[in-house]
Amino acid sequence: MDLLNTLVDKGLRRELPTREEALAVLATSDDDLLDVVAAAGKVRRHWFGRRVKLNYLVNLKSGLCPEDCSYCSQRLGSKADILKYTWLKPDEASQAAAAGLAGGAKRVCLVASGRGPTDRDVDRVSETIRTIKEQNEDVEVCACLGLLSGGQAEKLREAGADAYNHNLNTSEGTYGDITTTHTYADRVDTVQKAHAAGLSACSGLIAGMGESDEDLVDVVFSLRELDPDSVPVNFLIPFEGTPLAKEWNLTPQRCLRILAMVRFVCPDVEVRIAGGREVHLRTMQPLALNLANSIFLGDYLTSEGQAGKADLDMIADAGFEVEGADQVTLPEHRAAAAGGGCGSHESAGCGSVCGSHEGANGCGSHADADGCGSHAGADGCGTASAAANEPRPDLVAVRRRGAGTDLAPNA
Ligand code: SF4
Repeated sequence: MDLLNTLVDKGLRRELPTREEALAVLATSDDDLLDVVAAAGKVRRHWFGRRVKLNYLVNLKSGLCPEDCSYCSQRLGSKADILKYTWLKPDEASQAAAAGLAGGAKRVCLVASGRGPTDRDVDRVSETIRTIKEQNEDVEVCACLGLLSGGQAEKLREAGADAYNHNLNTSEGTYGDITTTHTYADRVDTVQKAHAAGLSACSGLIAGMGESDEDLVDVVFSLRELDPDSVPVNFLIPFEGTPLAKEWNLTPQRCLRILAMVRFVCPDVEVRIAGGREVHLRTMQPLALNLANSIFLGDYLTSEGQAGKADLDMIADAGFEVEGADQVTLPEHRAAAAGGGCGSHESAGCGSVCGSHEGANGCGSHADADGCGSHAGADGCGTASAAANEPRPDLVAVRRRGAGTDLAPNA
């Protein structure tokens, strides 16, 4: 297909595709799906080989948020039956982080619900970062605390934070439809603050909220312009008790096309499959490793992912390898610009917008047994895409283990 040859060439040269080309990827048929994956896979392997970076989420503070992000189980008025707790102590957070690192993760993502941290919260998280870094020499730490005020990013950087996550989530044009308590511009501002403080920007999106193909292309092109080092791609988990509970719009094939489009538009960036991996990709998860070079290990913020061991088995079975702490994630030109660390941006601004604490990275999936990826009944699996976007609330398991509980974490 001419389209795919063109996109591979552009991806290898880091050249921006046209909007029409990006839209054409989303419009490809199921018959062409393997060709699309193979083409985007060439770009992925060119920049990242067969390495898969594992990230581990630690929810420092869960629920009771005053913001109204429609996709989020921790939002104001959420009826989702999630864990609710206030700040983990530094040792508790470090213990949770250690479990993820022992499972193979190299980055720990420290997330807290809320509009943004107070200065006291930043001090608290700084202490947690120092504790984690003292106890785990090579760990990368990313903070995701919401909107930042002046000086807070600098404090986090001084404490040892490597990165800051704040997702754009959706196109600027539709942002007001999903959240009214803050704006797209607020999010951009926070990512710019993080970048200006020398933190690696992590900013991505949530697909499946009822957006159009044009919206998806808009947000991914905005991300390309902001130039974060990592782009988490979340697939909405329609939590019961949230306004988007009925938005079951995604099929595994649609998720693969979205990931391929993101890879073509952001070829040399760490593309991470985030929340919703197990719920929406289901048995197609291994195929998605040809597109993304990064996933979360184990559970999400308020929902459970497949068993950590299943993640590791999937990576090995698909012919990929877990990226080691001694391997640099980003391609040389990006890593060099970042001083060897995790991230750098070529442009001034990477400022993206961040994200969410929950719906986005957060959500997740189901648990173990019949879980991941799975389809429940015998007739479930793998069936045709025609049936694949039917509501599957049975695949969403609220997190009941790990941080904030007495039970061991999944890692
Ligand atoms: S995404 Fe973050 S800011 Fe929005 S409701 Fe959830 S926890 Fe609050």
